[in-house]
Amino acid sequence: MSPSRTRVALLGATGSIGTQTLEVLREAGDAFELVAIAGGQRLAELSAIAKEFNVAHVGVVSDRDAEELRGLMGRDETIVVGAPGLSELATLGDVVVNAVVGFAGLPVTLSALSAGKRLALANKESLIAAAPLVQLVRDTPGASILPIDSEHCAIHQCLAGSTLPGHPDVRTIHLTASGGPFRGMTREQLAHVSKHDALRHPTWSMGPKITVDSSTLMNKGLEVLEASALFGIEAQRVDVVVHPQSIVHSMVEYVDGAVLAQLSLPDMRLPIAYCLGAPVRLDQGWGRMDFTSNLQLDFEAPDRLAFPALDLAYEAARLGGAAPAWLSAANEIAVEAFLNDQISWSRIVEVVARVLDRYVACELSSIEELFENDATARRLAHGMVTA
Ligand code: NAD
Ligand code: MG
Repeated sequence: MSPSRTRVALLGATGSIGTQTLEVLREAGDAFELVAIAGGQRLAELSAIAKEFNVAHVGVVSDRDAEELRGLMGRDETIVVGAPGLSELATLGDVVVNAVVGFAGLPVTLSALSAGKRLALANKESLIAAAPLVQLVRDTPGASILPIDSEHCAIHQCLAGSTLPGHPDVRTIHLTASGGPFRGMTREQLAHVSKHDALRHPTWSMGPKITVDSSTLMNKGLEVLEASALFGIEAQRVDVVVHPQSIVHSMVEYVDGAVLAQLSLPDMRLPIAYCLGAPVRLDQGWGRMDFTSNLQLDFEAPDRLAFPALDLAYEAARLGGAAPAWLSAANEIAVEAFLNDQISWSRIVEVVARVLDRYVACELSSIEELFENDATARRLAHGMVTA
């Protein structure tokens, strides 16, 4: 093993981001070493990854999974279990990729930053729910967050050179949204959409939760909160613009009127490679543009009446404290209920709105408080989806 190899921990290795991270690592050859992986299901896949990349540390969700995995691998890798296992794995490696979906990714975010690692963050839910707590560990020597989420990776690049806290030289961040599969539909039409329709994203192929979030525009709402937490910019300075081609991944407008954008064809392997390689750009060329083809870039305002999730996210930002955690937790429960055919598509955002209505102001100052708030919001949402 050469000492210059960058060691990578990839948590959520079997998902959409996880699988694409593995493709970037394969392409990069010897530059990286995969030292730890974790996954929630698909143990055969997890074991195959461990074998292919000769990974020494593997995380699973339960003792039963650990036993099953041990049988599949038949070697003596270290197997760790549950949230404590994720926390442990997030202290290994130089770069920690958080590709877990949902609030379950929280231990990875907090542990990687506390251990002074570079966190390559796909898991937006942990940052959104725990923003004040993440802030406390972000200053750990060596710690940094590089966003894998394509819009935020674009913003991060367009902000290079804007170094003052709070970015006073930035007027507006224009967060682009594809508009999802239901762009242009009215509230009446949206009342009849199916799970099959919601899972057919026009430009990106992603895991089920974020695909549903994209159909309600809750993903974009969550991304407003994510941008605000990542870059220390108030949510009111983050604007959403629909851009159906998903080529301009976001834009930063400076006070002098200059607008910087990052473009590529939609391909998550590009932001993943950016986060793995930084400050060096990997010579891989994912999503390369052809400017001689008939390139069309359209922009339009989002329909905030048909897609109320967007304003709910701004409302959560205005409320501050644990409100974003409530929004995200309620959304997780509602999306799960939708995927399990318990509620209709329109009810997803309705449930989130009703839960947020019940929010009791709480400044998040400890992890215990966060877990309490998360549990309360989940309980309320559960009651609504099963009623
Ligand atoms: P996915 O459902 O395809 O994969 C999720 C991964 O997390 C799987 O490997 C699963 O096994 C693992 N996992 C779930 N619960 C776990 C637990 N308790 N412990 C360990 N592992 C667990 O999801 P995805 O689409 O890859 O999304 C992952 C994250 O990245 C989400 O937060 C999503 O919002 C974000 N993101 C995804 C994309 C995309 O293109 N897929 C783009 C931007 C951001
Ligand atoms: Mg995104």
